[in-house]
Amino acid sequence: MDCIFCKILKNEIPSKRIYEDEKVIAIMDINPVVDGHVLIIPKEHVEDYQGIKPELLQHIYKVADKLTKELMTKLNSKGLTFVVNYGDSQLVKHFHLHLLPDYQLKEKEMDVDKVFEILTK
Ligand code: 5GP
Ligand code: ZN
Repeated sequence: MDCIFCKILKNEIPSKRIYEDEKVIAIMDINPVVDGHVLIIPKEHVEDYQGIKPELLQHIYKVADKLTKELMTKLNSKGLTFVVNYGDSQLVKHFHLHLLPDYQLKEKEMDVDKVFEILTK
């Protein structure tokens, strides 16, 4: 299967991971829309939101809650937006939740390496 996120999960493609547990990883988006743009990706290959089991979604929300607090504290953000794309709006066909600190509140100021350093130190 030719899935970019499955390759990231298998370490065939490098990524900047800020969180991992038995069910999900969270990585820095390679082409961030805002500083601290993070993707939560389930380890199980599920194409889109329609295939996600409720228990897995619940777990993803728990991780999103933890990372939201962490991102907002470390980046001094005043808000955060969750995004799940679907259909033609979804480019990578492996479910993922976007976390977007200060979406529509602030311009992007940092490169991904700098944000990664802040989030992982
Ligand atoms: P969507 O599928 O929701 O439209 O968005 C896919 C997201 O994955 C985009 O924001 C894009 O920048 C990100 N992305 C695509 N390929 C890679 C990759 O190889 N590494 C990382 N870290 N992010 C990626
Ligand atoms: Zn996949």
